[in-house]
Amino acid sequence: MTARPAYDAVVAGGGPAGCAAALALARAGRRVLLADAGTGPPKVGEALVSVARLLLADLGADRAVLGGGHLPCHGNLSAWGSSELHAVDFLRDPYGHGWHLDRPLFDRGLRAAARAAGAEVAEHTAVREPRRQPDGTWRLALRPRAGGAGRTVRCRWVVDATGRGAALAVRAGARRTTADRLTARHVLLDPAPHGTADSRSLVESDRDGWWYTAPLPSGHRLVAYFTDPDLPLAADRGTEGFRARLLATRHISRRARPHGLTTLRPPRRAPAHTAHLDRVHGDGWIAAGDAAAAFDPLSSQGILTALYTGLSAGEAVDAHLSGDRTAPAGYADKVATARAAYLDGHRAVHAQETRWADRPFWARRHRAPTPTPLP
Ligand SMILES: Cc1cc2nc3c(=O)[nH]c(=O)nc-3n(C[C@H](O)[C@H](O)[C@H](O)COP(=O)(O)OP(=O)(O)OC[C@H]3O[C@@H](n4cnc5c(N)ncnc54)[C@H](O)[C@@H]3O)c2cc1C
Repeated sequence: MTARPAYDAVVAGGGPAGCAAALALARAGRRVLLADAGTGPPKVGEALVSVARLLLADLGADRAVLGGGHLPCHGNLSAWGSSELHAVDFLRDPYGHGWHLDRPLFDRGLRAAARAAGAEVAEHTAVREPRRQPDGTWRLALRPRAGGAGRTVRCRWVVDATGRGAALAVRAGARRTTADRLTARHVLLDPAPHGTADSRSLVESDRDGWWYTAPLPSGHRLVAYFTDPDLPLAADRGTEGFRARLLATRHISRRARPHGLTTLRPPRRAPAHTAHLDRVHGDGWIAAGDAAAAFDPLSSQGILTALYTGLSAGEAVDAHLSGDRTAPAGYADKVATARAAYLDGHRAVHAQETRWADRPFWARRHRAPTPTPLP
């Protein structure tokens, strides 16, 4: 007789999607292990939209996660389609203000909430070598970052919340498709000597892409440029080209200058393309968050969608374990609906910027997308 697996589900990835999935499963009374590799550069995504408070409340984590350490955001500014600034004030938002997150604190808070709900949490531990067993369970290797042998565990379901790489889903045979090649170059500016009074985020388009800036809870300022990898600024690896282009902006430069631009750190790179999996569930696995569908950061929907798909994936696994065989397909419909709404919004927003319609960055986004499967 085969022993009962130790876990109903192992969740790979301790970002918003994995934590939401683990919270949903643990709160449903399932035995769940959440493993987060914690590798890679620090995450850049920090703007959380106000409606996320509802999802976090559904997960029982709103107070613990949003209780302190983040900066309220009361509006957005944009110079898009014209050089004039357009303001959206969150005063009229029915869910109140958004946030500029201390992102490591936010993710840590979510993992702590999952632990408090009953999930076992393995920090700095990667899930590797998933193997389907003849009895329909999974055998997985847990590899601690510190080295050492790690351990092997068995479970009934695997949730892939490993981010854009979708490491486990791809291994299980799913195909990832990208719609563009958007790349971010981003830098943190030191706190301004006299602080920053305006907590609004700002987007400003230019001929080869668009800029984003926001103050962070630490007093630093994030500045990011989004472009395609074959366009001039993406290819330039130094700081000089970045600084010159930043100083040429009308609005971003005004906010960046008080932070001092003479000792600019070398900008980092991050993939920011739109991507999705051809299927978000299979035999004993389900994908959530960026692993299932990754969005252009212009949408400000990445963290929200990760929480939503994580919660929904956890609920679908719980329902399947209770005998509802249709639950994963219902989950796939939810992901498809969220992605369709995102794609509509993405097309509409890019259509509003017509000043550089003949430049490659904008021409590509004004054309109907031709999705490219990743090898
Ligand atoms: C430049 C940039 C700016 C952005 N700005 C915003 C923004 O302002 N607002 C917004 O809402 N979104 C933004 N996003 C998107 C947002 O960051 C993501 O959508 C969000 O982090 C997705 O959450 P996730 O849980 O799916 O994945 P992630 O947050 O990427 O978490 C995945 C986790 O899995 C772990 N992992 C990977 N492999 C394994 C493994 N084998 N085993 C165990 N763990 C593993 C990783 O260490 C990581 O912690 C931005 C993205 C980029 C690139």
